[in-house]
Amino acid sequence: MTDQQRRDAIARALDAVEARIAKACVAAGRARSEVRLLAVTKTFPASDAALLTDLGQTGLAENRDQEAGPKAGEVRLLRPGVQPRWHMVGRLQRNKARSVVRWADEVQSVDSVRLADALAKAMSAAHEAGERSGTLDVLIQASLDDDPSRGGCSLPRLGELADHISGLDVLRLRGVMAVAPLGEDPAPAFARLAGAASDLRRNHPEASELSAGMSADLEPAIAHGSTCVRVGTALLGARGLASP
Ligand SMILES: *Cc1c(COP(=O)(O)O)cnc(C)c1O
Repeated sequence: MTDQQRRDAIARALDAVEARIAKACVAAGRARSEVRLLAVTKTFPASDAALLTDLGQTGLAENRDQEAGPKAGEVRLLRPGVQPRWHMVGRLQRNKARSVVRWADEVQSVDSVRLADALAKAMSAAHEAGERSGTLDVLIQASLDDDPSRGGCSLPRLGELADHISGLDVLRLRGVMAVAPLGEDPAPAFARLAGAASDLRRNHPEASELSAGMSADLEPAIAHGSTCVRVGTALLGARGLASP
């Protein structure tokens, strides 16, 4: 596939995803501006991320530190003028915190006090090294299935973790993220998530983001209040294959 063909394919896919989001917003009686789109570029090359930014898509997401750091660097070289906003949405080990704060503007997968502490320590070190300033935006990843292998904080413990993060001055709590459980209708799971997020906002009004919905389930997520959909396959194609 030539660059132009790839660009056209991604442009068509982006139009189709935009149309789905717009329709879901209308159906939910919500404004399109309430929902941001993150393009999940994991497993796809930096050239695809660069093409997405050419098409106006500046919210990009990755799930592995080892892949994302070099890719963000490559995109910087390919498109020196643009500043995409990079989001970490995958499971994160504490020993990767120092590396993640070198490329991520936002970490959506914070699911423990220990990880929050590691990110805060990494941010302080990055400040001292002159690598970045300000705060790191974070979302708490909530578990909708209580499956420890998939990560996430159980819904009853969201409040404790939010209280802890609020005490770390280099992190800025922005909201909650979740992935729908496997093999279950996503709508009731997103409804549970929306309830827990709304409870959390009573003490943490700043936690206003609800990151939910992927290629297969963005409509029920938007119906249940998602403010951020994370879409990979529907934009870039099946992972491991070259085209959408
Ligand atoms: C891969 C991934 C996505 C995107 O999934 P698609 O089904 O390809 O849209 C969204 N969120 C997370 C956390 C992911 O790891």
